[in-house]
Amino acid sequence: MKEHVEKIKATLTELRKIDNKKINTVLVLNKCERVIDKLGKLANECRECEQQLVEFEKHYTHILEKNNQLQESDYKHHKKLIRAAYSHLQKKHKLLPEGYYLSLFISVGMSIGVMFGLTIFDNIALGLPIGMCMGIAIGSGLDADAKKNGKTI
Ligand SMILES: [Zn+2]
Repeated sequence: MKEHVEKIKATLTELRKIDNKKINTVLVLNKCERVIDKLGKLANECRECEQQLVEFEKHYTHILEKNNQLQESDYKHHKKLIRAAYSHLQKKHKLLPEGYYLSLFISVGMSIGVMFGLTIFDNIALGLPIGMCMGIAIGSGLDADAKKNGKTI
């Protein structure tokens, strides 16, 4: 499995060299590299991770061959692969997307803030930012923890 990961990473490095904004922004190569890393680590015990790695390898080789001539369908296929990998990593391996808790707790904090703003403070404009700050504090703390434990993609 290690060869697969190495090969994909080499291809990613090549892709980064292509001076094409669209390829760099649409393909979000840094995100891909994290996904590949996770798949590579899990592939020894998980058939599906192995399968997905093979798919990624095929896809990147194909993209590299096309060089600057990528078509809409290539981008679409790429998004599909990433989405499938994300959902598999989340469902099967209980991994979380980066910033998962932050976005969760910001929205929780905001609704609690509005509620307190309406009841206790009698002032939404006061409750909302307080709730949001609490959400950011809790969410980023949990995200940092998850990252430390290798639980993020
Ligand atoms: Zn897996």
